[in-house]
Amino acid sequence: MRKTLVAGNWKMNMVADEALALAKGVVQSAGEFGQTEALVCPPYIWLSQVNETIKKSTVKLGAQDLFWEDKGAFTGEISAAMIKSAGCDYVIVGHSERRQFFGETDRTVNKRLNKAVDSGLIAIVCLGENFQQRESGLTSSIISSQFENAFLNFDQFDKVVVAYEPIWAIGTGKTASPEQAQEVHQQLRGLLEQKTDKYDTIRILYGGSVKPGNAAELISKPDIDGFLVGGASLKAADFVGIIKSSL
Ligand code: PEP
Repeated sequence: MRKTLVAGNWKMNMVADEALALAKGVVQSAGEFGQTEALVCPPYIWLSQVNETIKKSTVKLGAQDLFWEDKGAFTGEISAAMIKSAGCDYVIVGHSERRQFFGETDRTVNKRLNKAVDSGLIAIVCLGENFQQRESGLTSSIISSQFENAFLNFDQFDKVVVAYEPIWAIGTGKTASPEQAQEVHQQLRGLLEQKTDKYDTIRILYGGSVKPGNAAELISKPDIDGFLVGGASLKAADFVGIIKSSL
């Protein structure tokens, strides 16, 4: 009922020829993705070029962030309209690296989310606890609080994907066990149920050191609907391997 989504967040990686080669590598295998939706999120600067490479395929394009204002004197920022005009259907919001290094807060996540969906983009809203919070037994309360703040006064849930990304598992090689991930995904499904009667149609992705070798076990869990992939999305073979393991 929920279409699996596997999204690759390229982060600040890839110069021009590398970006195009990676996009081509993904597109070449797109015929084998079945019903699974594949999404690539390159750095802003390559969005238009990657769009040229993927636009005749089923592979979708997303941006890694956006700013909530429409236009103006905001040096270095990118608007929702710019992202859309570059060919994006999706945008990532609230990634932990934005929270950690660039001052992103729950409040600014909410502002970006609203601008994204009001502009016709699908927002992938990221949340997750850090290592200390997990060790202190605070995972569930952190998830609830991030969720409530991100979705404060929000009701356009048909334009949302939620991504659970435990910070301790991002780029560390540590993966949440399928049971640990499912526990949080189930909690998120319950939080969605309190907001919308369509809670069962909303995709909840897992992110944190997903690889071709662990994807199948994770996707077998009932509330894991796909992946947000960092490191392993930088090699076409690995990204394609994750998609094929998710079929
Ligand atoms: C991410 O940054 O969203 C992520 C999940 O990274 P990695 O797959 O490298 O852990």
